[in-house]
Order: sequence, then structure tokens, then C-alpha cells
Amino acid sequence: MVQAIKPNGTLRFVTIGSWAPVNIPAHKVRVRNRDGVYLPAIITSIPPHFMTAEQKKAVPKISDMAIDVGATSAEEVKNQFKIDIGAPVVPDVRFEYLDHRDVMLGKAFDNRIGTACLADTLRELDGQDLDVDIVASLSAQEEVGERGAQVTVKKIQPDLSIVFEGPPADDTFSPEYMIQTGMKRGPMLRDRDTSIIVNPRFQKYVLDRAGAKGIKAQRAVRTGGGNDGAVINLYSGAPTIVLGIPVRYAHTPYSYVAFEDYVSALKLTVDVLKSLNAEVIGRF
Ligand SMILES: [Zn+2]
Repeated sequence: MVQAIKPNGTLRFVTIGSWAPVNIPAHKVRVRNRDGVYLPAIITSIPPHFMTAEQKKAVPKISDMAIDVGATSAEEVKNQFKIDIGAPVVPDVRFEYLDHRDVMLGKAFDNRIGTACLADTLRELDGQDLDVDIVASLSAQEEVGERGAQVTVKKIQPDLSIVFEGPPADDTFSPEYMIQTGMKRGPMLRDRDTSIIVNPRFQKYVLDRAGAKGIKAQRAVRTGGGNDGAVINLYSGAPTIVLGIPVRYAHTPYSYVAFEDYVSALKLTVDVLKSLNAEVIGRF
């Protein structure tokens, strides 16, 4: 979000959610102006020609970065570009499907991919006769403290919940024995992170169904991270699981998701929802 307009026409900004400063400079973004128009812009960086040897090695602080919309004065930014403080800023990345690898490339798969899976789950279940009522919800601001989930959980008051996630993949930097969220290894079912220990009986039920149906799945014991499931758990104690579709390079401008992982997550979710009834839920 734009924090202030500097006299030279660049914009100071703050990050929303968890960004590593090293992933920010020199990328393309879009800034939404007063009229709702998205203006392309670049995150500033000092050209290598002007960097000292020390600067080349150091990671700049976010407070030293700025967004350059191509203006040369603050007046131009305010009056011609119509950009105010508080203007939202997003990475400027186009979605691509790489068909030779069956991989999607894009931004914010955490949690656009969960959102897509939720919509497709409803589509798959449309018109089917189930023993449970399904309520789906999208909630905002998970990345800044699970705020949306605190509102939706009170409205829905679930007896059971499945939280879709776009969890960060660990398969490009972890030793094989530590990989728990690998691309093309199926949906990740999280045992714990810093916000939740999931209901072990519900977790086992879903893993067993994946095994029985031949759907790839992996489980993850995380030392960091958090998710909306924690809020649901704390509100009513409703058995909750976290079903994530692995996202390589989450929380950066570019990320990958394997389409087959998406399909597996969808299949598993639909299968589980079709199998639920009061007796099964009572066992959790
Ligand atoms: Zn995230």
C-alpha cells in the first residue's frame, strides 16, 4: 500500500502480509489510482553501476525502497496520475499454464488456488444429494491475522471444516526426507503449524480415503506458518483439517502450482464431503 509520495515522484510503500525484502526490488507492479485505473510501475533499485561493493551484498530495507510510476514530481503523481496515499499495489504478473509441464505459473496462488478449489468443489457437488449441508466461504486478510475467518466462522458456525490453503512448497531446497509439501506429490494435509494442531481423527479419515482411492497426498509438520483453521478451531472446536495445494515460491511475485495437485485436492475433497454424515462426524 502506498504510504507517502516523495518529492521526486516515487512512492514509499508498506507491505501487507509476509514479504521478504530480498524478493521485492526491480519487479513490476500495478498501482490503483483514484479512478480505479491500474498503472504499471517498477519497484526501484540502484543500478549496479552506482552500487558500492557493500550495497551489492546487502538486502535493502523496505523503507529504503520505492515505487516508480514514471513521474518526476509529487505534483505529477497526485494531479496527473491521480495516485493518493493508501493506493493499493499488486505484483504485475500474468497467469500462464505451461502445458508441456502441466504446471501453472502466476502470482498469489496462496490463496487463489484454494479459492479455485472451493469454487470447483461446489460445482462438482451441485445437484448431488448429500447427508451434510455444505457452506463455502471466502475470507479476506488471512495473511494479516486470519481476520476474515473470524467473521465467517461466526456466521457459518460449522460442525466440521476443511480449510483450503496454498502452502509454500519445500521441495526445491529440502533434503528428500524432509520434503512434506512437494510439487506433484498431491495435496498437503497439515498435522500442525504454529497456529493449529489439526483433529487427528479427521486427518486420518481423509488420509485413509486418499489411500483407498489412489489419490496422492502428503502430510506436513511445520515449525512455522499459520492458517484460518486455527480461528475455526478456537471458535467452536469444530474438527478441522487443512488441505493445501503446494505452491512453489509462495509470497513472491511468481509461483508454480502443478495442475495434477489441484485435481487431486479437488477429487479428495469431493470424495470426503460425499462420504460424510452425522455418524462419521460424531467419530471425530
Ligand atoms: Zn500465505
